Amino acid sequence: MEMSIARQLKNKVQSLVNHRLLKQGSVLEVRRWPNSPLIEIDLHLPHMPMQEWSEVPAIKFNVGNWHFRDYTPFGWDAETSTCSLLVDAAHSGPGSNWAKSLNMGDTVQYLKTETTHQSPHGTNLVVALGDNTSLAHLLALRQLTLPAIRFTSAILTDSHQTGSLLKSYFPWSPTLHFNEDALMQWLLNEQYCTEHTSFYLTGNKALVFRLRKVLHSLGHFNIKVKGFWG
Ligand SMILES: Cc1cc2nc3c(=O)[nH]c(=O)nc-3n(C[C@H](O)[C@H](O)[C@H](O)COP(=O)(O)OP(=O)(O)OC[C@H]3O[C@@H](n4cnc5c(N)ncnc54)[C@H](O)[C@@H]3O)c2cc1C
Repeated sequence: MEMSIARQLKNKVQSLVNHRLLKQGSVLEVRRWPNSPLIEIDLHLPHMPMQEWSEVPAIKFNVGNWHFRDYTPFGWDAETSTCSLLVDAAHSGPGSNWAKSLNMGDTVQYLKTETTHQSPHGTNLVVALGDNTSLAHLLALRQLTLPAIRFTSAILTDSHQTGSLLKSYFPWSPTLHFNEDALMQWLLNEQYCTEHTSFYLTGNKALVFRLRKVLHSLGHFNIKVKGFWG
């Protein structure tokens, strides 16, 4: 059957975008965390100027059928052009399904890198807050925070299993909370200095909104926000 003009045009545009705009990398390893929604993916991205990253970036991946999703690289090494992703894949969606489908040796395509405009404050205590989708962001922010003792973080996570894996896989891990009330209560108890603390909020948009509201009510004003989903 003859292809319609619209379909031919779409294919042509798609191939132009694929060849001109999309860059490629490869999957070095995939670790599906046991009994946890998290998938850790190590990548080789030879065209990525990682040495320029001074703010936490996000990479816009082609997750199939013209769907693009942002994921945060962490643990990058500019010399080897490698980095990792941590994807929360509990739900069903093009990004989540893409992460679940990846295997060692696969090719990944990305459109561009964006900045979240979040870079650690030069002298303040850096406090990063979020959920499972923020973990890579927290790790990247910590990577950029020197010295690392100025960094602390807390997340709302799904289970004790994810929490204990996090503690065993990384030498550092955030304070873990399993419901939002506990996270808010922890924030109220910490009594961070308003003048010398900078907050970085990421993850679910409604969560980020409520965290910012609590921080404002406590008189904090150094707050950077980036809602990821929802
Ligand atoms: C700058 C930036 C950086 C990001 N970095 C990361 C990252 O490092 N790791 C990461 O996992 N995500 C990250 N995200 C979120 C990611 O881009 C996708 O939005 C997310 O993976 C959902 O895409 P999807 O295609 O799977 O689901 P969608 O098709 O977008 O959503 C399908 C349904 O699932 C719901 N949903 C989406 N995400 C979740 C979730 N995590 N839990 C429960 N329900 C959900 C949606 O509300 C919707 O109802 C980032 C987003 C931004 C903007």
